[in-house]
This record gives sequence, C-alpha cells and structure tokens, in this order.
Amino acid sequence: MDPVVGLLRDLVAIDSVNPSLVPGGAGEAAVAERIGAALRPGGIDVEVTDVAPGRPNVIGVVEGKAPGRALMLCGHTDTVGVEGMTAPFDPVVRDGRLYGRGSQDMKSGVAAMVEAAVQVARNGGLARGRLVVAAVADEEHASKGAEALVKAHSADGAVVTEPTDLKVATAHKGFEWVEVETRGRAAHGSRPADGRDAILHMGRVLGRLEGVEAKLEAGRTRPRLGRASLHASTIHGGQALSVYPDRCVLGVERRTLVGEPSDAGLMEVREALSALAREDGDFDGSARQLLTRAPHEIDDDHPVCQALRQILRRRGLDDTPTGMSFWTDAAILGGAGTPAVLFGPTGAGLHGPGEYVEIDSVGTCRDALVELIRAFC
Ligand SMILES: [Zn+2]
Repeated sequence: MDPVVGLLRDLVAIDSVNPSLVPGGAGEAAVAERIGAALRPGGIDVEVTDVAPGRPNVIGVVEGKAPGRALMLCGHTDTVGVEGMTAPFDPVVRDGRLYGRGSQDMKSGVAAMVEAAVQVARNGGLARGRLVVAAVADEEHASKGAEALVKAHSADGAVVTEPTDLKVATAHKGFEWVEVETRGRAAHGSRPADGRDAILHMGRVLGRLEGVEAKLEAGRTRPRLGRASLHASTIHGGQALSVYPDRCVLGVERRTLVGEPSDAGLMEVREALSALAREDGDFDGSARQLLTRAPHEIDDDHPVCQALRQILRRRGLDDTPTGMSFWTDAAILGGAGTPAVLFGPTGAGLHGPGEYVEIDSVGTCRDALVELIRAFC
C-alpha cells in the first residue's frame, strides 16, 4: 500500500472533532502525535506546540543545503462533528474511494503534504531553501492554529492543501457574522396599548435585509468567486403565546469579496436599522459584529502559482485557476504576508455524512507537492 494511504487511514481513524464546535470533541492532540511520528523518521525537525490546552500545532521544518526560497505547506487537523454518520472513524475503502469524517476535509490533504515532506527529506533532502510543513488546529472554528503559525513562521509562498479536486485555487470569499437585536416592551397579550412587539419589529428588519440581498444579487461579481451574499441564519425571541415579546435576536451571515470592507455587512444592517428608526420613532434596534474573516486572493503570476500550474500541465491535468466557495486558513497566511494557493485531493461530501476522498488523487497530490518543493525552493 502507498504509505500516503496508510497515513490517511490512520488519520481518519483518529477522532479529532473540534471541541469548540462540538462540546466534548476529542481535539487535535492524538492526530498531532500521529503526524509527528510520520515526520520524525524522515529526519525532519518537528515542533509540537499547544495553541490552546490540548490543541497542538505540529510543524516540521526541512532546511536546504544552500539558501533559496521558503515554501510552506499547511493543512488543518480538526474536523466538524459526526452527526448522521454510522462509522465516522472507520476508514472504509470502496470503489477507489476512502470514506470517513475528515477524509476529504482535510486529512487527505494533510497526509499528502506530510508524505511529500517525508519523501523529500528521505531522498537526498532539500538542495536549497526551506520547507515548512504545518498541521494546524482549529480551522473549523476560530483558526487558533493558523493564527499561531503565522506568528512563528513565514515563507515566500504556501500551499494550503484543502480539497480542490486537484485544481489550483487562487481565491475564496471572506465572511462576516452580525447579530441584530430589536427591543420591545413585554405586556400581557390582551393589552396592546402596553406592549411593543420586538418580533414584528424584527420582521421589518428582515424585509429590509431581503432588499440588501437583492441588491447584492444584482451587484458586482468577482472572477472565480461570483457575487457577495447575505442571509439570515438564526432567530430567537418571545416567551409565551400570550405575551408581547420584549426582545428578538437575529444572526446574519454576509459573504464578502476582495475589495469590500471587513464590516460591509454591519454597515448594511445599520443602514437598514437607521431607516426603520426614521420611519417609526418606536422602533428600537441595534447591531454588532461577532466575527469577520478576510477574503483571499493570490496573483496568477506569483511563482508558487506558476510552478504548480506548470507541474499540473506536465501531468496532463487541468491547470486553469479556479476559486473555492468556502473560507480557509489561506486568508490568514496571505494576510500575514505568506501568499498562498489552495491545492488538494478530489472528493465530495465535506461536512456531510457521506464524506469521501478519491484515493488516487491523494497520491497524485503528494507527487505534485514533491515536484513543487523541488521546483520552488
Ligand atoms: Zn477544511
């Protein structure tokens, strides 16, 4: 068996559900230990550092024999929860696919980058430059791992090995979470003169936000990414059927394009609230930003992009750059001055019950990364 498949099976068999997403989740400690064990025999320097209690990053470094460029390979080791899966940690192989939680997102990409580094270290080492292989914690929640990584390491170029179906992805959107609150006055349902209905007031907010979303739908698009969007994600309010609700809270997600401010959604929501307050002096609402994550782009002519595309062409693979719909740690690397492309194996079902990766694509990804290390460093 190709060692990359052996490593992938082991990684999928280890529960590393993100405990910030799922209370009681196992976290990244055990999976980090397995990755450290894979890297060390190749003679790679390995550091394991907790970014939060029981939540380690594993970082391997291969120093070249002469000065050159530094390349970083980065992947996350946590996964989302396993709801609806019968055997999430049993890496079943069927029809050339390996099933299990994290098989696509993104233990296959982690196995490919780890095995690429081991192969380079074992076969003569690195002639020039520097290779940093980083398996980071917590991407599925707050990216504590990537935040800690960029404080300690940088590089001239990076590959984040999220699943891209073996395509070079140069861009993805950012996102922003906004919480909206409307305030009313609690009263017995029989006393309309005393009550003020916070939920009906939120209905007005929702009507306005539908208008914002319609504008975004008709608005500007970005190559490889499409348009920005806004949707209502969660809503809570009310105590009982015969009580006027004094409070309603709405969660809104805004997906952002490069060139938009990091508080685009908050501004749109606040504009809607101001308009509603002008229409009706009784309307009382406010908004705050919970989290914002930047969108990501790298130039097509960046050397890491060009080198990777050349390798794909040589292998007869499609080298057309593409964009991904989901957010990744590449935005954190890029924001800290390490330009990153996304390139990883082929699969489907990420975050869902039927998640799988196509086994051949994991070996192909590893082989392309070996060539990239040699070409770029
Ligand atoms: Zn991922």
